[in-house]
Formats: sequence, structure tokens, C-alpha cells
Amino acid sequence: MRVHLVNPSHISFGTAVITPRWLYVLAAATPRSWGDPVLCDETLELLDPAAIAAGDVVGIGIHTANALRGYEVGRLARERGAWVVFGGIHPTLYPDEALDLGGAHAVVKGDGDEVWATVLDDCARGEPKRIYEAGQVPGKDFKSARWDLLPANRYMWASVQTVRGCPKHCSFCSVWRTDGQAPRQRDAEAVVAEVVELRRRGFRFIALADDNFYPVTLADLAQAARRSDPARLRLLEAQRAERFELMARLAQLPDDLVFYTQITMEAAEDDAFLEAMARARIRGALVGVESVTPEGLKDVYKGFNLTGDELVTRLRKFEQRGVYVLGSFIFGLPSDRPETFDATAELAERAGVAFAQFVMLTPFPGTVDFERWEREAHEACERVDGIPVSRHWLIHPERRPKVYAPHPVMSPDEIRRRTQGVWDRFYALPRIWARARVVRSLRGRLAFVLISKLYRQMYANTGIATDSARMARSARMARWIAKPCRRLFMAAPMPDLQVPAA
Ligand code: SF4
Repeated sequence: MRVHLVNPSHISFGTAVITPRWLYVLAAATPRSWGDPVLCDETLELLDPAAIAAGDVVGIGIHTANALRGYEVGRLARERGAWVVFGGIHPTLYPDEALDLGGAHAVVKGDGDEVWATVLDDCARGEPKRIYEAGQVPGKDFKSARWDLLPANRYMWASVQTVRGCPKHCSFCSVWRTDGQAPRQRDAEAVVAEVVELRRRGFRFIALADDNFYPVTLADLAQAARRSDPARLRLLEAQRAERFELMARLAQLPDDLVFYTQITMEAAEDDAFLEAMARARIRGALVGVESVTPEGLKDVYKGFNLTGDELVTRLRKFEQRGVYVLGSFIFGLPSDRPETFDATAELAERAGVAFAQFVMLTPFPGTVDFERWEREAHEACERVDGIPVSRHWLIHPERRPKVYAPHPVMSPDEIRRRTQGVWDRFYALPRIWARARVVRSLRGRLAFVLISKLYRQMYANTGIATDSARMARSARMARWIAKPCRRLFMAAPMPDLQVPAA
């Protein structure tokens, strides 16, 4: 009786950019009495169903985008007589779907870190519950990942989590609803121990897979002080102090490490925080710019962002402190107009962002935007292969319509073409090469160019393109680029590296 953990994907690249952290965390949550779980990341290779035997337990983690493939895997595993258990954001929102369509015996809602051992015991007794309400585990109880189970030479970046939850409430994002608005921060020592283990194995680049690395802003502190709320102020100050403690510990690690995280733009006004990030070698951050107009920010409930020259200055501040920005922009907001596309591309260039992603406003389950759109889509009763478009993730990928929120002045195709145009402009080779000047060594510049091209192939062409031949070409190209890219990111292992004394 073995445990299998599967990260489903319709497309396999042979090499992946970032380790799917949940696989290795759930492996750690699997009691040793079950033996080492068999891990399958389908972004590398598809599952071999013959590896599953009757009585095994197959845990499948899904989000909305890979739900359909997850359900195929679930049915395959059930046909082979295995116990099938689903977890992840999507089954947390739609548990019945996994039970009805994915062959699931059980669904875990919420964080699996603690409940997984119980699920396995219940399966062993032949009595799994249909639903496990696992809720939100406190930061101190997050499991450290089983990196000893990593396959050799497959991933470029490792991933470590330092905090779950985000206090904001952006309308296109489900994180604040599924992970909660109270930041759950992990103990610095647990984070450092994982980073040391990864560096021993030759990983230099580590993504801090956090919802929001900067959960307490200066404005939050000022507001708590203004409201004469000493308890709230003490809590926020303690949370902020924990962030600084973590960054101070990261700063003690080997100086060839590079961290990357996700953060809100407000961090740029917090000099002490930016300095601590630089010392900790947090050299890159995904910053959700979303829109370059005040109307656009209002559309997504993100009024705390800036626009125009102030936005350029704020984004440049990250770079001045050595934190390179991956700017994330959304197209298709109700206030967007045809001229918004060029204005966004120009601003991204003026602000000196090193990387950028341009996503089309897509209503994802669990978000405020989705609820609004779902009501309208339900009224319109549009269907593909008998499936309502409000459940677009259940339609076969080849026939799946790209689902975008309806727009007052542009058609979905116009938004898609213009978005593709901005990707083409931002990732033209001469522009990438000019941006690569932020890296000093030739090897570093080469890595910058390759990762830019890879990102573009993996995301823009497979994510936005509507034509399947183009998607297949992009997947082939990504496969081809990924191998040399991986070698550029790795370093000589440091097997004797120790956790520095606190
Ligand atoms: S988009 Fe970012 S800042 Fe907004 S709620 Fe989601 S995680 Fe938080």
C-alpha cells in the first residue's frame, strides 16, 4: 500500500522552473510508516498509471487551471482500485466537483499539512470521510518540505514558504478568501533550515512562495496608532519584527543565494524594509501593478497602488535598492481603452521593470470578479459541449473558450490581440538585451535572456494563444530552452553547509 502524490498538467516540459512546493510538503506530512511517497509532477512527465496498485492512496493537488487533468488522473487511479483524495484551492471551493467528476473518495478543504496523516489512516481502514475540513493551519505548524525526494537535474528554482494569507482584498484574487487575511508567518529558523538544505543540493535561486511578503505596511501601523488601538498596534509591530528577523537570518547565508518573492508596491516607501531585503539578497519581486490608471485600480479594489510618474518613481525605488521587479499588469479592465495597451508598455519600460507579465482579466473561482461574472454567464446560458461557460475549466482545453470578463468597448479578441502585442514588444530581443544590463557577468546576462524568452514561451504563447499549433510549438521551444537555462541557475553543491548560529 503506497502513497502517490500527483501534480497534474496537460503539458510537460521535461524541465520545470520552480519546484511544486505542495508535493514536497505533503510528502513531509506523510507518516514514515507509509514509506516514501511516490511523487509525480506532470509538468515534467505524465503519470504512468501502471505504477498505481489497488489499495494505494493517490493524493492529487489542483487549482482551477489544471482541474480537468486532475479529474482524469483521479478517475484513472480509481479504476486501478486506489483511494483517491483531492486537495488544493479548487477542491476547497468546489469539493463536490472532485467527488462527482474526479473519482474522489475524499476531498481535503484547506491546508493539508496536519490532516493528511488522518486521511491516510482512514483510507487504510477503508473508511475515508467524503470531506475533511482542514481549515487554516497556524504558521508555526507549517511542514518543512521533504527535499530529499527531489529528482536530480529537473528544476531551476526551489521554493520555500515564509507566510500564508494576505490582508488585502483585490477583486481578481482568491488568496485573501482561501488563505485568509491574517498573515500566518513561519518561524525564521524553519525557513533557514530549508534554505540551507536546498543550497547543499546546489540550488542558488529560491522563490519565496508567499502570498504577500510584506503583510504589514507603514500605513497599517500609522492607522493602528491613530485609532488608539494598542493591541492591534502590538500585533502588527510583532509581525513586522518577525519579517526583519527572518531577513536578518537569510542575510547570514552564503552570498551566492538569490531570493525572489511577491510583494505589494507599498514596500517601496519603507526604506528600512527595502534595505533589509537587499541584505537578505531578495533580488527579485513580483509586484502587482495591475493598472496604470486610477480608474483601473478602482476597478480591481487596489486603490493603494499609484499611477503615472509617482508609479514610475516607486517602481524605480525597488531597482535602486537592488530588488528587480517583475511587474504584473492586467488588461481588459472595464476602464481600459485601446490606448491603454501602449501606455502600459511605455510605463513598464520607463519604470525599468526587469520582467513583466500582461494577463487578461479572467474571472477565477473564489474571486469577487467571478461571482459577478458567473451571475451574468448563468443568465446568458452559453454552453460548449453541453458545459456552461461559467464552468469553463471543465471544457476540453482544445475547445475551451478563453473566458474573459465582458468589456464595454473592446471585443475579447481585440483585447487578446493587443495583449499579445504588448508581450511581443516587451520581450523583443533588443529590449531584453538592454534590460539584461542589470546583471554584471556575461553568464548572468545569458541567463537573463534565456529566462525572459522561456517565460514568454511558457506563459504568453501557451496561456494567451488560441491556436493549438502555436501552443504546441511554444511547448517544444520551452522544452528546448529550459535545459540550458537550468544549468545556468544551478551552483556547485555545498554538502557541508551548516545552519548559521542564531
Ligand atoms: S493580488 Fe496580491 S495583494 Fe491582492 S489580495 Fe491577492 S495576494 Fe493580496
